Amino acid sequence: MKPLVAITGASSGIGEATAKLFSEAGYPLLLMARRLERMTAHCFPDAICKKVDVTKVDQIHEAIKEAEAKYGPVDCMINNAGVGHLEESWKQDLGEWEDMISVNINGVLNGIHEVLPAMVERRHGTIINISSLAGRKSYGLHAVYCGTKFAVHAITETIHEEVAKFHVRVLVIAPATAATEVITHTTSKKIQEDWWRAFEKPLDAMDVARTIKFAYEQPQEVSIREIVVTPTY
Ligand code: NDP
Repeated sequence: MKPLVAITGASSGIGEATAKLFSEAGYPLLLMARRLERMTAHCFPDAICKKVDVTKVDQIHEAIKEAEAKYGPVDCMINNAGVGHLEESWKQDLGEWEDMISVNINGVLNGIHEVLPAMVERRHGTIINISSLAGRKSYGLHAVYCGTKFAVHAITETIHEEVAKFHVRVLVIAPATAATEVITHTTSKKIQEDWWRAFEKPLDAMDVARTIKFAYEQPQEVSIREIVVTPTY
């Protein structure tokens, strides 16, 4: 059997597409998100679906323990769960800032923390963190979102430098706009409508999923450390 792949935020969008693609390719999966029924509805073979809030490290810990008991160690951890609340900073609620920091930074750190020591010990494993084009460039309405995604880039790059000598890969994938539920996280209906109008042809979630799988399926000694993926507009 192929090695275990764990995906956070697998209940919609990029995470859901990635789960479909890896399942079709025969990987056993650990799928984590808060909306359990959205994951179990697919009835993927060899998949364990767990209701997990990535901001709670003990929930990730328990889910991984259960999946590893059945399928062996997590060989690929895809830290994809994320939230994007868009608003002008001077109008934005502090709770929205805190939510982005908790999920997009602490959630990624929790996922890394739960698999990295064992990967180093095994001298094998891959962690793929999903950032954004907003992790490389600043955009209006995205101040804290950009801040969290810049952090994902910095954390990924630094840990990669630390653990590459153990043959462990820590990669970052930075997609541009993809047609998912992400814009529904934004409170302002006007910002939501403007967002859809601004993008004639966004990426499909499956475009990003294929990019993730491509990076993972390189030989272990080949590390595509960063991929920026955008549509051709
Ligand atoms: P979606 O809203 O479709 O998916 C977000 C996923 O994150 C859902 O499965 C959601 O699951 C999960 N999630 C959110 N909060 C938590 C939490 N506290 N605990 C566990 N899971 C959580 O958006 P996308 O698929 O677009 O987003 C996936 C990633 O891609 C994010 O990191 C996003 O920032 C990034 N990205 C998206 C782009 C886009 O344009 N779509 C562009 C660039 C990057 P649930 O609510 O069930 O918990």
